Amino acid sequence: MKKKILLDVDGVLGDFHGAANKLIFDLFKLDIKPEKFITWDVTDVLESKEMKDDLNHEITKPGFCSSIEPYQEAMEAVRQLREIGTCEIVFVTSPNKNGIQWVHERDAWLIKHFEAKYEEIIHVYNKRLVSGNLLIDDKPKNIEEWTTANPQGKALLWDQPYNKYSSLERVDNWNDIVDLIEEKKPPHFTCHYCGLHDENVECGGIYYCPNPLCLGPGAAYFRSKMKSYEESENGKHSVNPSEIIMFGEWLLNGDIPDKMKIAISKSIKCLLHFEDEESVKDIIDC
Ligand SMILES: [Mg+2]
Repeated sequence: MKKKILLDVDGVLGDFHGAANKLIFDLFKLDIKPEKFITWDVTDVLESKEMKDDLNHEITKPGFCSSIEPYQEAMEAVRQLREIGTCEIVFVTSPNKNGIQWVHERDAWLIKHFEAKYEEIIHVYNKRLVSGNLLIDDKPKNIEEWTTANPQGKALLWDQPYNKYSSLERVDNWNDIVDLIEEKKPPHFTCHYCGLHDENVECGGIYYCPNPLCLGPGAAYFRSKMKSYEESENGKHSVNPSEIIMFGEWLLNGDIPDKMKIAISKSIKCLLHFEDEESVKDIIDC
């Protein structure tokens, strides 16, 4: 199964703040430097409520969404990601509630600049409702909510002057994202069982612990992610078998190296060796 990468649009693929800044100049003759935008909300640079309302009103008008300049680097990166072929790209974008043409303009914009297909575009107010393996978004709140709702996935904050206040994990160039998808740079690895931390794990992932002394290669990661996983004070471990099956299938359907699949398969077989729920205990010993 291909990895699903969710790409936010405004602020990640296109210069929303730049387009809004042009409106601010046209409306109020204010020349605001990009670094003056220190929050995600573009209207925060304006002083009065009337000015904020005027700007918001202009943004909802036909033509604004289409006028947003796409980032050239983003266009190239999406082209590269398509070529790699190991990921499914989904454009996840929040529509403007007051601009009835917004959705249609956004569709046309994505088709024109990113060769998007309609079925790759999701217009949604709550991005946490969309699951995937990786989310790139410039709004800290979206990253936080999505991460909570999708703990199996990874979310990175796209670096912008207006989100510097956030301490969330961020990314500031497309090469790192392409490398992440190609698995040239695996995510930092921390084994939830033996505690091994390694920033350069060649096996490429968070699924398999390379520590030969770790008793739970493969199993360690998915045990730690299971909701029903429990570890008692005396070191006994238990987990619900139905969750083992579901999680194991999810892992094995993923685009992961064969040696990890072997380790995971062994671990699943080991765990499922116990047939009834009550007896799925002491999985460390198997
Ligand atoms: Mg955005």
